[in-house]
Amino acid sequence: MNANFQSNDLGEVIEADRAHLWHHLIQHKPFETIDPRIIVEGKGMRVWDATGKEHLDAVSGGVWTVNVGYGRESIADAVREQLVKMNYFANSAGSIPGSLFAKKLIEKMPGMSRVYYVNSGSEANEKAFKMIRQIAHKKYGGKKTKILYRHRDYHGSTLAAMSAGGQDERNAQYGPFAPDFVRVPHCLEYRKEELGLGHLSGADFGRAAADLIEEVILREGPETVGGLCLEPVTAGGGVITPPEGYWERVQEICEKYDILLHIDEVVCGVGRTGEWFGYQHYGIKPDFVTMAKGVASGYAAIACCVTTEKVFEMFKEDASDPMGYFRDISTFGGCTAGPAAALENMRIIEDEGLLENTTKMGERLLANLEALKAKHPVIGDVRGKGLFAGAELVADRETKQPLDEKLCQAVVADCMAQGVIIGVTNRSLPGFNNTLCFSPALICTAEDIDAITEAVDKALTKVIAAA
Ligand code: PMP
Repeated sequence: MNANFQSNDLGEVIEADRAHLWHHLIQHKPFETIDPRIIVEGKGMRVWDATGKEHLDAVSGGVWTVNVGYGRESIADAVREQLVKMNYFANSAGSIPGSLFAKKLIEKMPGMSRVYYVNSGSEANEKAFKMIRQIAHKKYGGKKTKILYRHRDYHGSTLAAMSAGGQDERNAQYGPFAPDFVRVPHCLEYRKEELGLGHLSGADFGRAAADLIEEVILREGPETVGGLCLEPVTAGGGVITPPEGYWERVQEICEKYDILLHIDEVVCGVGRTGEWFGYQHYGIKPDFVTMAKGVASGYAAIACCVTTEKVFEMFKEDASDPMGYFRDISTFGGCTAGPAAALENMRIIEDEGLLENTTKMGERLLANLEALKAKHPVIGDVRGKGLFAGAELVADRETKQPLDEKLCQAVVADCMAQGVIIGVTNRSLPGFNNTLCFSPALICTAEDIDAITEAVDKALTKVIAAA
């Protein structure tokens, strides 16, 4: 146990939780008989729960967030110093950390220019959607309002972000959704048969998967399509790394039809894949980049919608028009804690060489997962980029039938019992693919990586043997 851990009286906390807290993303019925999980303390790669149990966190706070690890006093100090000086003013005025972080961020994003601060990934995406819609009105007489999104990608929990939601199991029971969001097919090579592209591989497959986007554009009418929103590597939809040749073709298609390219870096951003941003692996030239989770590693709530100067210019051309600018606000986009934390977060990533560590440890993670695949027939496919990896579990390698979700959950639960927290995607409806997820903090060591995959090895052996 961490030397600093003190349980105090957590009975009161657990009772308060049980009586009043509505946890995210989970069914509460089990809490009638078992205690809810409460995380009390964190240091580096590890967290301690209310029972005093230590966990190695292989998912950076559950959802790809705590990129620089837990217990960073320098971030806490930077935030404290800023808060006692100036905590908040609406972002129609600037702030010292807001301006300085914007400058630092743009230094890492050649070709991009302007930073719009908000609170969450969903909201950052909504801002990009609104800007694309406003451009459709300003430049194209109200045409080009359609925004394309991809099957299996996720862009957030608010209603317009859900309208661009590519995971049907998350959207069931929340419709109707906003109009003019149109789905394009996924690009997962492992399941290329679903796309009718089973005969292709490598770059031929990648280009053909991108051509499916063009087919949708032609079907809808290019004059109606204003934006295309994609994750560089799909996260919650199953850790889908793009096939070779895919992004080059996507970029060509956007240029050909004058479609604004919006890259959702909420998961991939700020180091997760071994570059500052996922899109930078693939030579993409985005018009919008949205980011959230790793921007301040969860030390403060901050998200950004970043645009090119070309996009920004469109919102200041007609100064006499009362609708000529981006008529939008996000109250907490004026909080200074976010950019203060983000500045220090970025300094840590640079000074500690965490991009390099991510590439190196990411290779080890993928190699270890490949070794598990050679040993466990239940692993159908292994994918990843940097410290962001997935192992898709199947009942049968030939048919690629997804493994029963209860077994996937049992693997996650067994790892948890061993003291290692891993994740699993797409488990909310039966029949969906089931991918174990790994996204340890960018500070992880070879020993951490080996401990994570050893736990998975043991869990798979035990769970599958018992099935
Ligand atoms: N985009 C992606 C790719 C995400 O994974 C998420 C969250 N998991 C979001 C957007 C939404 O972010 P938030 O939960 O901060 O609204």
